[in-house]
Amino acid sequence: MSETSIQLETVSWRRELARAIRDPAVLLSRLELPENLLGDAHKAAGDFSLMVTESFLSRMVEGDVNDPLLRQVLPTLAEMSGAESGSEITTDAVGDQAATRAPGLIHKYQGRALLIATGACAINCRYCFRRHYPYSDAPKSWTDWKPAFDVLRDDSSIEEIILSGGDPLMLPDGRFAELVEILEAIPHLKRLRIHSRLPIVLPSRVNESLLATLTSSRLQGMVVVHANHPNELDEETQGALKRLVSSGVPTLNQCVLLKGINDDVETLAGLCTKLVNVGVMPYYMSQLDRVAGVGHFEVPVEKGRQLIKELRTRLPGYAVPQYVQELPGEPNKLPL
Ligand SMILES: *Cc1c(COP(=O)(O)O)cnc(C)c1O
Ligand code: SF4
Repeated sequence: MSETSIQLETVSWRRELARAIRDPAVLLSRLELPENLLGDAHKAAGDFSLMVTESFLSRMVEGDVNDPLLRQVLPTLAEMSGAESGSEITTDAVGDQAATRAPGLIHKYQGRALLIATGACAINCRYCFRRHYPYSDAPKSWTDWKPAFDVLRDDSSIEEIILSGGDPLMLPDGRFAELVEILEAIPHLKRLRIHSRLPIVLPSRVNESLLATLTSSRLQGMVVVHANHPNELDEETQGALKRLVSSGVPTLNQCVLLKGINDDVETLAGLCTKLVNVGVMPYYMSQLDRVAGVGHFEVPVEKGRQLIKELRTRLPGYAVPQYVQELPGEPNKLPL
């Protein structure tokens, strides 16, 4: 693609992003919900404020306080009660800090390393385990990134690089392509995995330029998206997922098990079925990571296990995700 068409494509999804809603009062009024619903919740949000795209908002049901998409983004007072079940609640539940080998580079598991490509996201999910991550320390220019690239270059045991964040697809197209080029030049890297919620919350991000970068790379590309509820997969989103799949990029989904949002078998079966119908494979269903302010979303592990058991009776084997939990110091995510 030409430089100009890449720029034009970037402008279009970035313009949509700039219109994302950040004021809870506006969100409530757009959904015809009373403003007093919010109470002091915006204080609970702290510096992890509300953010939601117009596209995601369009999939919420007007007038429904319990809408499963709304509940994922609306700050509530429950976030202020941080004292759920004792000592495990931290700001670094998964041990990222100990596994950081250079600024922005987390190497925890054999053969694969994770790059925090940017701290930015297109949506702020209230349950996010990275809400306390010190993103302001993260590298910004390619020079800041040099130590991370040096570690990758010097460690030939790393075959797969995972771009995460934040959301790596928040990088403008040109910059994203540059990053892929830098990684491609490291001979022992074989696979490039992108962890992104953008195909779900901003489907226009799956544009020609992104597909061209992924499919023309020497590295085997792979995208892991993040949807939790079947209502997140409207026509526009399904279209974006199909574009990825039909361009030959293996696409997987991970969801987080969330109380009151997807902790029933109907919802999970609906989600997994919709995904496989567009060629996206359910990969992981994660147990919520215990960070401060998210305890009200936690589902007991026993219930999670029961849900997976019921899913197996309803769906083809390939449509059932692995139920996993990430614990510090473990050599892999633990199957539950
Ligand atoms: C989740 C994660 C991975 C990827 O794990 P998979 O089981 O391969 O999906 C790699 N690195 C870090 C730091 C992670 O958190
Ligand atoms: S998209 Fe992912 S990283 Fe961003 S806020 Fe949501 S859960 Fe967190």
